[in-house]
Amino acid sequence: MNIHEYQAKDILKKYGVRTQEGIVADTPEAAVAAARQVNALTGSTWFVIKAQIHAGGRGKGGGVKLAKNYDEVREISKNIIGMQLITPQTGAEGKKVNKVLIAQDVYYPGESDIKEFYMSILLDRASGQNVIIASTEGGMDIEEVAEHHPEKIIKEFIDTRVGLRDFQARKLAFALGLEGNAFKEMVTFIKSLYMAYLDTDASMFEINPVLKTSDNKILAVDGKVNIDDNALFRHPDLAALRDITEEDPLEVEASQNELNYVKLDGNVGCMVNGAGLAMATMDIIKLSGGEPANFLDVGGGANAQTVEAGFRIILKDPNVKAILINIFGGIVRCDRVANGVVEAYKKIGDINIPIIVRLQGTNAAEGAKIIDESGLKVVSAVVLKDAAEKIKQVLAK
Ligand code: ADP
Ligand code: MG
Repeated sequence: MNIHEYQAKDILKKYGVRTQEGIVADTPEAAVAAARQVNALTGSTWFVIKAQIHAGGRGKGGGVKLAKNYDEVREISKNIIGMQLITPQTGAEGKKVNKVLIAQDVYYPGESDIKEFYMSILLDRASGQNVIIASTEGGMDIEEVAEHHPEKIIKEFIDTRVGLRDFQARKLAFALGLEGNAFKEMVTFIKSLYMAYLDTDASMFEINPVLKTSDNKILAVDGKVNIDDNALFRHPDLAALRDITEEDPLEVEASQNELNYVKLDGNVGCMVNGAGLAMATMDIIKLSGGEPANFLDVGGGANAQTVEAGFRIILKDPNVKAILINIFGGIVRCDRVANGVVEAYKKIGDINIPIIVRLQGTNAAEGAKIIDESGLKVVSAVVLKDAAEKIKQVLAK
């Protein structure tokens, strides 16, 4: 689960990670009030207006702007709130901005002795350890730095049995070229950040930039946090931060029905039990000249309700020209699934696109018979090759 920058910063503060003051607003007037409050807290008269969306690269897309007085705060907020912000991470359609963060300007005007670093913590699956990644080349595209200057990416792996050790935090701060107070601050910053990462069951914390101010403080200027969905049950406070307006509506509906659904761009909807079979089915669709419209794993216990929910979600996608249902009857019997398909079909009503059902495994023959005798516009297939052939036929029509 992704969260917004302002929510990430609230978490950081709780763990003693220093960040700049900021208040979130959803109207230009609220933005001005927020700026006045930030001024009262910090004395800062310049503010940075930051679009809150679940994507990075906002600066490049025009979603991060400096305001030098309250009129500019109002003007800029008016332009950003409600805009469809396109960044390198949103895709061409962009994301609608509902809120802005009014942040204290921390690049104290006129001062040059500042430095932007990059820092992230994530799970390195290859080594089975958490890794802290840091770089002196902060602020900009870290992907570019990794590609052209891999020597500027520093990695520190954390042994899960002992956790982050002091010398590791010092090693990182040293490698970033810091000394004096900034060095001490960075060591504390890294240790606090690591605590926050562990405690929230996060799968990623990325702070880009981490700023060294002209008065040698270390601050998190940006914050991108991903929390492991599977751990949310033990963090009700974090689960409450979910913003479903940032997610694909079909994916939200699927998750409410406990279906594993990922929307794709193709024209053949598919409903499968088991992730591996779902992947293979998507390959088959491609081989037969179609493009999968989605990934959908209905899980082991497919029944009439799950099939119906799956159907409804697939049918809401206007690009879908055909549906392939590919179920392996292992735990679930094929005749039960077939009944589920027929029931769901009748219940939903006017489905006027071809549906190919391939049932294999326990009671496959009985399943096929139910489909064939249902009188509905459903075609049954037994062998996968056969199913692929039938998709080809319906797409050619
Ligand atoms: P994104 O990564 O989505 O582009 P950032 O939060 O990193 O968004 O902001 C982009 C850039 O804007 C930063 O690299 C920094 O230079 C500047 N910036 C962001 N917040 C502030 C702030 N509070 N004060 C001064 N400059 C800021
Ligand atoms: Mg950033």
